[in-house]
Amino acid sequence: MKKKKGEIQRQRIIIYYVLAIVLPCLILGILAIRGIRNDQALVEREQRSSLLESGQQIISETDEYLQDVENSFTAIAGSISVPRKRIFNDSLLCNFSSQHQAIAGIFYLPETGPPYLLNYNLLYVPDDFSSVTDITRPQSMENILEKGWQIEFRENDYRKALRYYQNVPPDVNSKNSQGEILNIIARLQKKLNLYDDAIKTYDLIWNDYTDVLIQNKIPLGAVASLEKSLLCIEKKDSVSALETVCLLLTQLQKSAWETEYSHFSNFLTKADEIVSLCENPNNEEIKNLIESINALQDSISSLVKHTEYLMAFLQSGDIMVDNTNQGTSNHRYKTRINGKSYFFSLVPANGLGEWGLIMDQDDILNNSVYHSIITNKGTSDVSWELTDANGEQLSKSDFFTEETSPVGVVFPSDLPFWSLTFYPEYTGLFNSLFRPGAGIFLYIFIAIVVILAFGLFFTLQTVNNELHLSKMKSYFMSTVSHEFKSPLTSIRQMAEMLVHGRVPSTERQHKYHTTILQQSERLSHLIDNILDFSKMEEGQKVFRFEKADITPVVKNVVESFKDHTALQGFNIDLSIPEPVPEIVFDREAMEQVMHNLLDNACKYSGDARKVEVQLLSKGNNVIISVRDYGVGIRKEDHDKIFSRFYRTGDELTQTVKGSGIGLTIVKQLVEAHNGEITVGSSPGKGSTFTVILPMKGTDIPHSQSRQSGS
Ligand code: ADP
Repeated sequence: MKKKKGEIQRQRIIIYYVLAIVLPCLILGILAIRGIRNDQALVEREQRSSLLESGQQIISETDEYLQDVENSFTAIAGSISVPRKRIFNDSLLCNFSSQHQAIAGIFYLPETGPPYLLNYNLLYVPDDFSSVTDITRPQSMENILEKGWQIEFRENDYRKALRYYQNVPPDVNSKNSQGEILNIIARLQKKLNLYDDAIKTYDLIWNDYTDVLIQNKIPLGAVASLEKSLLCIEKKDSVSALETVCLLLTQLQKSAWETEYSHFSNFLTKADEIVSLCENPNNEEIKNLIESINALQDSISSLVKHTEYLMAFLQSGDIMVDNTNQGTSNHRYKTRINGKSYFFSLVPANGLGEWGLIMDQDDILNNSVYHSIITNKGTSDVSWELTDANGEQLSKSDFFTEETSPVGVVFPSDLPFWSLTFYPEYTGLFNSLFRPGAGIFLYIFIAIVVILAFGLFFTLQTVNNELHLSKMKSYFMSTVSHEFKSPLTSIRQMAEMLVHGRVPSTERQHKYHTTILQQSERLSHLIDNILDFSKMEEGQKVFRFEKADITPVVKNVVESFKDHTALQGFNIDLSIPEPVPEIVFDREAMEQVMHNLLDNACKYSGDARKVEVQLLSKGNNVIISVRDYGVGIRKEDHDKIFSRFYRTGDELTQTVKGSGIGLTIVKQLVEAHNGEITVGSSPGKGSTFTVILPMKGTDIPHSQSRQSGS
C-alpha cells in the first residue's frame, strides 16, 4: 500500500513535469519549427531570385567582354585596307588579333561572295588558296640548269657537275637562283659523300636563303633543314640532327613560311621519321631534345586544329547565317560549318563589305563566363553547370550537387548557345537553425533544451527526495512505535501485577514503582523529542532563555541517568574541574540536549559500561562533553548523523532502538543557543559529543523568549 502511494506520488510529479514543462516546450518547438520552415522557404526564394540576378549579371559581363573587343576593333576598322586575296596578310590586324585572346580569326566579307581570311595563326594554307604563284626562272638560269643536268645525269660525273655549279657566275639579281644552285651543290656534295661540305652548304641556305621558294613553292629553309638532319644521322650525330629538327618545327610553329598543306604535312612526317631514327633513351641530351620536340609537336597540333577550324570557315563559300537565332544586337551571328560552330561579329568596313571577328568561344568561357561565375558574390559557393546548345556539359563547379531544384538562365541569342544552371544550396532544418541571422528560433531551441534539461533534473531530484523522505518517514514511524511499545508493555505488566496484589514484598513493589516511573519518564522524553522535532520543523519551538548556572542542569540529568542505568552496570562519571560562569540558556532545552546525548552514549555503548561527562569553561565558552567507549561512528557518518531520520547502517546500531531524530534535535537546540556541537569518534573506540555554548549566549535578555527558526 505504502509502495503504491510512493509510486502514485512519483507518477504525479512526472505528469506535472510533462504538463508544465514538456507540453509547453513541445508546442513552442512545433511553432519554432514552423517558423524555421517559413524562414527557410523565404531564404530559398531569396536565394533563387538572387541567383537569377547573378545569372543576368554574368550574361551582361560576357556581353561587355565582347563589346570591348568589338568597340576597339571598330576604332581601327576604318584604317584597314580591303584585302585582295582570299588569305591575306595585314600587320595591323595581326597585331590587333594578338592583343585580343577572344578573337579566333578575322575575316573580310565582301558584299557578295565568300569570306577572305587573315592569315594570322594559320599554320598552312590549303593548296588551292596559296597566294604564292609558282616560280618562273629566268632563261639564263634555265640554261645553267640544263647544262648542269647534262653533266650530272647524262655523264653521271658528279665532281664535274659540282665544279660546274660552284663556278657558275651567280645570277646577282636573283636570290632564288642562288638558293637553288646552292641546293644543287649540297645535293652533289652529298652524292660525293662530302657530308661535312654538304652540311655547311645547307647551313648557308638555312641562314641566308630560308625563305626562298624553289619549284612547287617549297621553302628552301625547310628542305635544307630536313636534308641536313638526314646527313647528321648518316654521320651518327643524332644531337645535331634533332637540333635541326627543333629549328624546323619552331619555324613551322611560327608559320614562318606560307606553306601549302601538302608540304606542311610532308615536313611534319619527315621530322617524325628523323626523330624516330634518333631515339636513344640512354642519352640525356637526346632525351631533352626529344622532349622539346614533343612539346613543339603538341603546340603545332593544337594550332593545326585552329587552322582546320578557320579553313572550314574559309572554304564554306557563302556564310549561311543562322537567322532564327540572329542576335538582338543585329551584328552578332552564329553558324555551323562541317559540324563546327562559329560565333562572330560583323563590323562595317571601308567600301561595301564588312569585317568579321570570329570569337573564340573557349576564351569567352575561360576568361569571361567562368571568371564572372567565380567572382560573382551570389554564385561563388553554389553548384553550377554550363551546357551548350545540345545540352552537353561544358563545365561545372568543383563541388557539384544536384540535390536542389535548379535555377537556370539561358544566354540570349546574341551570345553563344549556352545555358547556365545553378543548384541552390540546400538549407536543411538544422542548417536554417544555425545560419547566421536565425536569431529568435535558435534562442527558442536553446531555451527549450535548457528548460527540458533543468526541468528533468529538478523533477528527478524531487522524485528522489520524495521517495527518500517517504521511506525515512515510514522507517521513523516503525522505529518510534517500537520505542513506545516496550516501555508501555513493561509499565502495563508491572501496573497489572501491582493492582492485582501479585507483588507481596515491599522491596519488590518499590522496584516496580521505580521502573514504572523510569519508563514513563523515558516515554515522556520520547514524546518531548517528537514534539520538539515537529515544533522545530515548523519553526514553532518557543525558548525560555534565562541567565543561570548550567551546572545543576547537567548534574540533575547525569544523576537521573546514573539511577536509571545503575542496574545495567553503567558507570557515569561527571567531572566539573572548576565552577563555570553563568550563561544564557533554556533549561528544558539543555536538559533535552543532555538527555539525548547521554541516552545515545548508553544506547551505543555496546559492551562498554563507562560514560564520562565533563563540564568546563574555556575561553568565552562553556563546554559540555559526553564521552562513551562504545561502538563509535565511521568518519563518513560524522556529518550525516545530525540529519533528520538518519541512522548509521552498522549492525550494532540497527539492533538498538532509535528514531534518528535525537541528534537532529540536539543540533537545532544548541544552534538556537548560538552554540555548536561536534563529534569525535572512531569505530570500536567510542565517541565524544561536545556541546560548545558561548558565554555571551544569545543576545536575548534574561527571561525573554524567542522562537526557533527552522
Ligand atoms: P537514534 O534515535 O537512532 O539514536 P540519533 O539522532 O540520536 O537517533 O542518532 C543518530 C545515529 O547516530 C544513531 O542511529 C547512531 O547510529 C549514531 N549515534 C548517535 N550517538 C552515538 C554514539 N554515542 N555512539 C555511536 N553512534 C551514535
